[in-house]
Amino acid sequence: MHIDEITNWLKETGPARLDRLYARADSTRRQYVGDVVHFRGLIEVSNYCVRSCTYCGVRAENLALKRYRLSRTEILDCAKRAAMLGYGTVVLQGGEDYGIAPAWFANIIRHIKQETNLAVTLSMGERNEWDLAEWREAGADRYLLRYETSDQELYRKIHPTVPGHPTRLALLRKLRQMGYEIGSGVMIGIPGQSYASLANDIALFRELDLDMIGVGPYIPHPATPLGNGSLALTLSPDEQVPATEDMSYKVIALTRLACPDTNIPSTTALATINAANGRELGLQRGANVVMPNLTPVSCRPLYEIYPSKACVTEEPADCSRCLRGRVQSIGRRPADGPGNRRKLDYRPQPQFAF
Ligand code: SAM
Repeated sequence: MHIDEITNWLKETGPARLDRLYARADSTRRQYVGDVVHFRGLIEVSNYCVRSCTYCGVRAENLALKRYRLSRTEILDCAKRAAMLGYGTVVLQGGEDYGIAPAWFANIIRHIKQETNLAVTLSMGERNEWDLAEWREAGADRYLLRYETSDQELYRKIHPTVPGHPTRLALLRKLRQMGYEIGSGVMIGIPGQSYASLANDIALFRELDLDMIGVGPYIPHPATPLGNGSLALTLSPDEQVPATEDMSYKVIALTRLACPDTNIPSTTALATINAANGRELGLQRGANVVMPNLTPVSCRPLYEIYPSKACVTEEPADCSRCLRGRVQSIGRRPADGPGNRRKLDYRPQPQFAF
């Protein structure tokens, strides 16, 4: 795909040119996914994690972090609240926690599907095929697994792999065969990420024909090797992608142009670096999904993948009210229903030259 054109846009700083990019992304969003915004209620079910990702605050080596795992009742209460608040989906997300037994979790998924009309999205890391198949069988609809970067050398440095585990890309293909809608994404501005590699990430979104794409700025966590400087992945300043708000909007906009019919959230990471209106700007530059937090307020600060995360003190009802207000303030409206991707029969070739 148009790697050079995408790279040029990523490097663009002219306000008038960027306004054109954002306007094009916004009109593409309106044409293909409309003016509604899907609300996916996020339940952070566990912060236990066996992995050692060098960017993530819940990595196993962060011994200072108090760990929690929600009970069955807590998860079901959060899901019922999502239904009461009128959301279409719950997203069950957690560290890669093998204390979560597959059958126990399948039972919870089954219960949510029986008791509510919610779609269930899972984001539980690189579980084995049998667990993923059992959860699909129990009724889970979608699975999110970011590939973080398409640069395999960088990936190995930021996301130490487990011998014998399939790659995230291989797992995404498996998940699709199992009948899940699949979502993936990357962090923007992770140390060592070049403009060319970020352009390749965007091209790969399209190649994988993803149903959901989450992109957000990398935010350093001091209890991680990348955040405390013990792992330095240095590129020259003209090669390194900055982890900025502006870069995040460019990536959202280019992602919308590359994948017009996909679902794209305006992420919490974006709201973290611009609490005033980061979410709204994301929605006006290509995104069509928000993810209000439903996790019990007592656990929220413990799901600290990066510091100063947005909305850690808000009760779910306040979070819902706030997000509805923000969506309406930009002339959009909350969607009804689960908000599955409505896949185009024919995908036009993306145009980046304008
Ligand atoms: N364990 C699951 C997994 O690995 O897919 C889901 C949880 S994981 C914490 C969710 C996402 O958080 C990751 O895919 C990563 O992109 C993002 N994340 C982790 N640390 C981050 C950081 N320091 N800055 C921004 N995003 C981060």
